[in-house]
Amino acid sequence: MNNLIVISGPSGSGKSTLIRRLLQKHREIVFSVSHTTRPRREREIDGKDYYFVTGEQFRQMIDNNEFVEWAQVYGNYYGTGYREIETKGNSGYNQFLALDIDVQGAGNIRKKYPEALFIFVVPPSLEELQNRLLKREKKEDENTRKRLEIARQELKEYEIYDYIVVNKDLDQAFFILNSIYTAYRNTTARREYFIKRLLTGGKE
Ligand code: 5GP
Repeated sequence: MNNLIVISGPSGSGKSTLIRRLLQKHREIVFSVSHTTRPRREREIDGKDYYFVTGEQFRQMIDNNEFVEWAQVYGNYYGTGYREIETKGNSGYNQFLALDIDVQGAGNIRKKYPEALFIFVVPPSLEELQNRLLKREKKEDENTRKRLEIARQELKEYEIYDYIVVNKDLDQAFFILNSIYTAYRNTTARREYFIKRLLTGGKE
């Protein structure tokens, strides 16, 4: 499928903020809502941020082969449903589906949909990542250390991705992300229909 945009990045990379901005700017991009067993956070809405399910429901979905990919992240289960990709991902030539998933998920999607767009958001340094995590979690604890170690492991998987966005400055990082998306919308494969119409006297 060539209208999937897979975006990953370690916790604290700023990935979620960048994805939010991209969705605000481009109404043709729809967010792929994952299933998770993680408890809902205060501001999250069931069906919008995630489909919150129990471990039992998640296992049932695995057994029914309902996931394109699923993974265990920070002790909880997360998965992208076929239904999400097939309904939202196929809803039009100019419609795109953004997937916010971890590196395991990205690797699995790459195997199934190699022509999707894969973007990796990374911090400018591990020190900066640590600072951001500390600010978020208020104090250094086991959680911060664990997230840093997971970030290191995730960064080693960079080769899955087509593009790397270094998020030092949010505006600059968004400019890069937006440029990548713009380029993706204008690939030869995507524009071929236009050239063909052009040659027969049509307009965009
Ligand atoms: P959070 O719990 O902070 O919302 O997300 C934790 C991590 O799970 C993030 O790195 C996010 O990208 C990842 N994630 C969210 N949904 C999915 C999914 O459907 N599949 C996979 N593999 N990872 C996901």
